[in-house]
Amino acid sequence: MIFLLEWGRPIGVGDINKYLKFPHSTLNSLIKRLTKKSILKWEAHQFVELQNEGKIVAEHLMQHHVILDHFFISALKIDAKDAHEEALRVASMISCDIIDKMQGQIKNCQLKPCKIYVDSDIMDKYH
Ligand SMILES: [Zn+2]
Ligand SMILES: [Zn+2]
Repeated sequence: MIFLLEWGRPIGVGDINKYLKFPHSTLNSLIKRLTKKSILKWEAHQFVELQNEGKIVAEHLMQHHVILDHFFISALKIDAKDAHEEALRVASMISCDIIDKMQGQIKNCQLKPCKIYVDSDIMDKYH
């Protein structure tokens, strides 16, 4: 969902896979499940897109991600790339209470929010 939020427009399932590298069946069942919950808009052989509700949830997860990123890097001194990957993995699993406490620990952190998913080769296809 964070990926789709960053992407910001409809995208084919195959191209999602190029970035996220989920097993094909995992991605398909995930897309179906999120479509049923009105998080995604998708029909067979059509592009996938976040619905409004999906955007709200994804923006919230993005905040979790950024706080986790900063916490891992500044408080735990974890390497930025590892911090980012770990933060993506656990963003949806950590409660808002814990995230708030982490945020309290990183008040003066100057890091910028990361953007690593979207690079140029696939981007061009959609311009
Ligand atoms: Zn990150
Ligand atoms: Zn939260």
